[in-house]
Amino acid sequence: MERDGLDALPKKFSPPKVAPAQGQSYQIALCRSDTDRRSAGYGMFATRNFNRGGVILVERAVMVVSTSCFGSCSSIDQLLDPKVRKAVMRLTDVHAGAEATLEGIIRTNGLEVDIGSRDCQGIFLDASRVNHSCGPNAFYRWDPTSLSITLEAVRPIPAGSEITIPYIDCLQSRADRRKQLKTLYNFDCFCKHCDVHWSEPNAAVQSDMNRKEIREFWNLTPSFDDWCTSDAPDDELIDLHTRALEMRAAEGLESYVYKKHIEIIAMCYGSMKDKENFICWIERGRKANMEAKPDVAGVMEKWIQDLRSFPAWGCRARAPAH
Ligand SMILES: [Zn+2]
Repeated sequence: MERDGLDALPKKFSPPKVAPAQGQSYQIALCRSDTDRRSAGYGMFATRNFNRGGVILVERAVMVVSTSCFGSCSSIDQLLDPKVRKAVMRLTDVHAGAEATLEGIIRTNGLEVDIGSRDCQGIFLDASRVNHSCGPNAFYRWDPTSLSITLEAVRPIPAGSEITIPYIDCLQSRADRRKQLKTLYNFDCFCKHCDVHWSEPNAAVQSDMNRKEIREFWNLTPSFDDWCTSDAPDDELIDLHTRALEMRAAEGLESYVYKKHIEIIAMCYGSMKDKENFICWIERGRKANMEAKPDVAGVMEKWIQDLRSFPAWGCRARAPAH
């Protein structure tokens, strides 16, 4: 990494959060399912049930490479600890000719992370084995202070299921997703959102339309603050976010944004002093944050205990009449 990239690194790394080790939460195993046809053949599988928001793993990167350094992978190769190098070279290179290269392995397995404002690829011995789905059941958050990622379930995952993340922007159309995956990762996606049966051509069209609507949601939807002080119908924002939740569930695109929809619906009810619905929705938000963000869940718990401590409690009711 160049000097300015090194300057962006934290001066002292904090240790990653303690997380379940392999075997307790997940295992890396060969994919047997017909739906996974990636040449690598390996994937990550849940060994227990996960709730939405459950932490699957926390793992420190063995390498972080600035994308601008891809042309000089041979010099990076020489800097690697031999043990790390051996483990990294066991990862798959989908770009390989006769022999895998370090650059090919980074391109195949790197997860997008950033240091400062620099785009980097992180290599993780376990997390890099997680396969792609266009309706992934997990996502990762990067913590540059510990050079680690936290992999979190975005919906309930039953034991035995394969854990998947998005390699690309899954709000693109099916054709664009498959094209990009083929170019970048050299595989044809046969996830259940891409592998549409010939007798159901409308399903692919509908899915593309749903994803387009999800993509445009935040541009077309009023903010909570705007709705709160407007004379728009009380249920307008709640209905929009409820529909977004349904669309995301149908497309398997819960991601971290799912929690945001839940929180905004709770905020709407809170702003109207609707105690029953506020508690119901904020409790959903609390449960979804319990494992990965206990501090956020703690704040929500306090709101449930004392409704008036919720900052927006009754604020719509107090809005001046128009
Ligand atoms: Zn797909």
